Amino acid sequence: MTAARAARAFRAAHAAACDGVWAAPGRVNLIGEYTDVNEGFVMPFALPHRTWVAARARTDGRLRLHSAAVPGGVVEVRPDDLVPGGVRGWAAYPAGVLWALREAGHDVPGADLHVESDVPAGAGLSSSAALEVATALALDGLGGAGLSRPALARLAQRAENAFAGVPCGLMDQTASACCRDGHVLHLDTRHLSQRQVPFDPAAHGLRLLVVDTRVRHEVGAGAYAQRRAGCETAARALGVRALRDVAYAQLPGALQELATDPGTAGLRGLVRHVVTENHRVGEVAALLEAGEARATGALLTAGHASLRDDFGVSCPELDLVVAAATGAGALGARMTGAGFGGSAVVLAEAAAEETVRAAVAGAFAAAGHRAPRVVGVTPAQGAGRVA
Ligand code: ADP
Ligand code: MG
Repeated sequence: MTAARAARAFRAAHAAACDGVWAAPGRVNLIGEYTDVNEGFVMPFALPHRTWVAARARTDGRLRLHSAAVPGGVVEVRPDDLVPGGVRGWAAYPAGVLWALREAGHDVPGADLHVESDVPAGAGLSSSAALEVATALALDGLGGAGLSRPALARLAQRAENAFAGVPCGLMDQTASACCRDGHVLHLDTRHLSQRQVPFDPAAHGLRLLVVDTRVRHEVGAGAYAQRRAGCETAARALGVRALRDVAYAQLPGALQELATDPGTAGLRGLVRHVVTENHRVGEVAALLEAGEARATGALLTAGHASLRDDFGVSCPELDLVVAAATGAGALGARMTGAGFGGSAVVLAEAAAEETVRAAVAGAFAAAGHRAPRVVGVTPAQGAGRVA
């Protein structure tokens, strides 16, 4: 898939040449799950898979949207439709980006857009953020607004939350906008400070695999909101702004405090996950910076156990990937993204790749699950203009 192909498809959809093509990747979170909604730390990297947006400015303020992934023709969004809830379906993501830019006071034009993507949608790899960030870069480019990548990521998140009505933290959009080739992004989601941490698996004789379970359990959306609300209740009970403020050393005391009230005793697992997960992010970053990538595997697997047992957002298929991969000698594995299906990330010795792939495929076949999709990945470049 190339920028040229997106430009050609734009011409077919809109009967004119585009002004440019912008691309933004999907992401995998290496570690730091559900920490962004607690003002904590995350460490995603960009996938080689991306979404291309070919675009041309319009003078009438309208958006005319076309996606190769969506059957049917062009979706037209008029300026009057640019209110939260005013656009339904996939068009809400790009329309939300235009809304968020304008609402923040940026004078960006309407546009004709054509979207191409090889980020699997709904697989927990953030095809929604890739679409938003590619659109944000395109509209920023067409309008000459000159916004920074972190600022565009925040507007893209606002589009998803407030316009499309999907709650999510800031990780996905920031990863798509700000990641660098050969690095994972250490992001403090409270202070919005970023650090690029070098990670070249091949240089260490390692392999990163992403396993898409191809399941998405219905309970996911409700459970996501319920976990977030539980974290907020726990933070209030502990007298902190967010669970990010509970230091690792304070965890035993915090758990004891919650145990004294029947109304908060049930929240201890959520707190234990968030506090230990923030700690694991720091440990993984330190290991990678010390050149000890191999040693991060155990922390990935510990993170999965925490999401499964304490936070309660895994599912049998994700647990099976982790069990099968680590059982076959992978250094570590964990679910990535919001859970209840979607994808897992596996770190293995490069030499063990085939054994691990076979073990995961075999375990899924034996359990009667549809075959998972497994791809080897390397941390790739974030969003940018490509034509
Ligand atoms: P994820 O972000 O994990 O892939 P989401 O449910 O958050 O899953 O986002 C998937 C949605 O994003 C799709 O249902 C669709 O509305 C939109 N989307 C993603 N990629 C495209 C695309 N290439 N063309 C049109 N819509 C897309
Ligand atoms: Mg998404």
